[in-house]
Amino acid sequence: MTIQWFPGHMTRARRQIEEKLKLIDVVFELLDARIPQSSRNPMIDEIVGGKPRLILLNKADLADAEQTTRWNKHFKAQGHETLAIDASNGTGVKDISGKVKELLREKIERQLSKGLKPRAARALIVGIPNVGKSTLINRLAGRNVAATGDRPGVTKGQQWIRTGSDIELLDTPGILWPRFEDPEVGNRLAATGAIKEEVLHIDEVACFVLKELAPRYGDVLSERYGLDSLPSSLPDLQSAIEVLEAIGRRRGCLAGGGHIDYEKAAGVLLRDLRSGKLGRITLEGPEEAMEPIGASE
Ligand code: GDP
Repeated sequence: MTIQWFPGHMTRARRQIEEKLKLIDVVFELLDARIPQSSRNPMIDEIVGGKPRLILLNKADLADAEQTTRWNKHFKAQGHETLAIDASNGTGVKDISGKVKELLREKIERQLSKGLKPRAARALIVGIPNVGKSTLINRLAGRNVAATGDRPGVTKGQQWIRTGSDIELLDTPGILWPRFEDPEVGNRLAATGAIKEEVLHIDEVACFVLKELAPRYGDVLSERYGLDSLPSSLPDLQSAIEVLEAIGRRRGCLAGGGHIDYEKAAGVLLRDLRSGKLGRITLEGPEEAMEPIGASE
C-alpha cells in the first residue's frame, strides 16, 4: 500500500484515536449519508481494528431515503451494524442503544453469567470534520457539551459524558481525514460543505454537482431553476457550464457587460443543495463503493 499522501498530522490524529480506543467498548463511525464513501476515512478498518463498530449515516434528513436504504444494505453485507440518523433533530438516535446492545451481546452475557451487572458501554465517536460529531454528542447528552460548527471541537481534558441510556461517551470525538487526494471525493466533500470551498474552485464544484445530478435528479434542477431543456446527461465540462449559465441567468447572477457571474451562480446552487432546498439528494451510490478503498494500492 502506498501512503505518500499520509502527512504527519494524520499520523498524529491516528495515534490519538488509537489511544482512545483502549478506553472504549464500541466505536461510532459517523458518515455523511449523502456521501457515505467519500466521507469515510480510507484506513478506517485498520484504525478501528477489531473494536465493535456501529456505522451511523448522519444527515439522513438531507439524503435520498432510497439511497440510504441501499447504503445500509451495502454496509450490512460487509458485516457492519448500521443506522441512519439525523443528529440535529434526533431521528434514529434513540435506536443507537439497541444496536450497541446487539454489538456487545456476548460481552454483556459474559458479565451477566458471572453475576456482574453490565456497566454502561463506553463509546467513541469518530468522523471527518463537519460530519456532525459534536451535534451527535450534544444530542446523546441531552445538553450542549460539545462545540459545533465547521471547526474541530474545542479540546479539553477527556471526560465521560452520560447519555441517559446505557452509553457513556468520550467527550472529545476522534477526528478523521477524508481521502482528499481523489478529485471526485474532493468535489463531493466540497459540495456538501465538508471541506472549505477555498480549497477548490466553487464553479468547478458546481459543474461537478450538475453533472452528477442531471441523470438522477434532473427534474429537481429543472423545476427549481426553470430549465426547460436540461439533458439527462452532461457529458463534458462545457455542457455543465451551459447549465450553470442558465441558472445564473434565471437567478440574476450577473457580472458587468451582461455576462454571467459563474461564482455567484455556483454559490446559489451549492447553498440550495446543502440546505436541502433541492430536496433530499445523495451524491454517490453504493455501486461506486464496491471496491474497498485501498484494495488496489
Ligand atoms: P463536527 O465537526 O463533526 O463536530 O460537526 P458538527 O456537529 O459541528 O456539525 C456540522 C454541521 O452539520 C452543523 O452545522 C450541524 O448543525 C450540521 N448537522 C449535524 N448533524 C446534522 C444532521 O443530522 N442533519 C442536518 N441537516 N445537519 C446536521
